[in-house]
Amino acid sequence: MVSESPDMKITAETPIRAPSSIPVDDAVLPFEVSALDLRGRLTRLGPALDDILTKHDYPTPVGKLLGEAIVLATLLGSALKFEGRFILQAQTDGPVSFLIVDFKSPDRLRAYARYDARRLKDGQSSGALLGKGHLAMTIDQGADMSRYQGMVALDGSGLEAAAHEYFLRSEQIPTRVRLAVGEEWRGGDGGKHRWRAGGMLLQFLPKAPERARQADLHPGDAPEGTAPHLLPEDDAWVEGRSLIATVADIELIDPSLSSERLVYRLFHERGVRVFRGLDVVAECSCSRPNVEAMLKSFSQDDRDHMIENGMISVTCEFCSSTYRFAPGEVENAAAQGEDDA
Ligand SMILES: [Zn+2]
Repeated sequence: MVSESPDMKITAETPIRAPSSIPVDDAVLPFEVSALDLRGRLTRLGPALDDILTKHDYPTPVGKLLGEAIVLATLLGSALKFEGRFILQAQTDGPVSFLIVDFKSPDRLRAYARYDARRLKDGQSSGALLGKGHLAMTIDQGADMSRYQGMVALDGSGLEAAAHEYFLRSEQIPTRVRLAVGEEWRGGDGGKHRWRAGGMLLQFLPKAPERARQADLHPGDAPEGTAPHLLPEDDAWVEGRSLIATVADIELIDPSLSSERLVYRLFHERGVRVFRGLDVVAECSCSRPNVEAMLKSFSQDDRDHMIENGMISVTCEFCSSTYRFAPGEVENAAAQGEDDA
């Protein structure tokens, strides 16, 4: 279990431990600014992200968008306190019509996107790539447990905005996220290309719930011309969301800036405490036995339609692994002998 480390507190009074200057990729760093009732997580992704995006050889804008979705899912999925999955899924009318990120607790990531290459244009924003549709976030706690799904509309303004809308409507927790994806070139123009990403999630969690009231974004059903019902936001949250708004994309993806330094740079005046980080890996959960079990659950007729050149082959959309079976290998359990190796 990952446990909190209270002795890592960084304050002016106890300058025992300076923030680590060693950057760590593929990791999530939880932190807390208790003076402002803020909790947050910062993630930096390097090889894990590069592995997922390179396997599919996505065009740059698609890679960037899927990278943002991966960062968002990592920030949210890494908060799961139980064995389960956090699944972020977008279905839209945009050039990237479908994307999915599957975060399996405690640390495994996989993702893919479907896109129409003919509709991709230079300089398209993530919002334009997604277009209109919806974003679903599912928490799956396993076979016997309930499944939770929250949905939010995508209206062309991208994943950060959709996440804010989600937390405002569904969770009613004042929340801000920042997502950034970049490409790193090593050895000049003809050199090796690598994907990097970073993101931060900040939430206002005061003990007194009335302090978490939020300004209503829409006047709702009020008659035309009515001023929106604006509630004053808590000063601590105004300060917190102003601070996270200053984080630049380059800071989030800078391979030489450690996560601890970045968090400290933002919140040191209020005192920030970091907790033990969590490493994440790009690893698909598909396997030959799983694919075999899936095929066995199909009807004989469906399987017969899958036979090509005498074999049934199934390609995992997440990791592009292909599994091949001879038709006799995957007969229904009832018709199956004990002789399969
Ligand atoms: Zn796979």
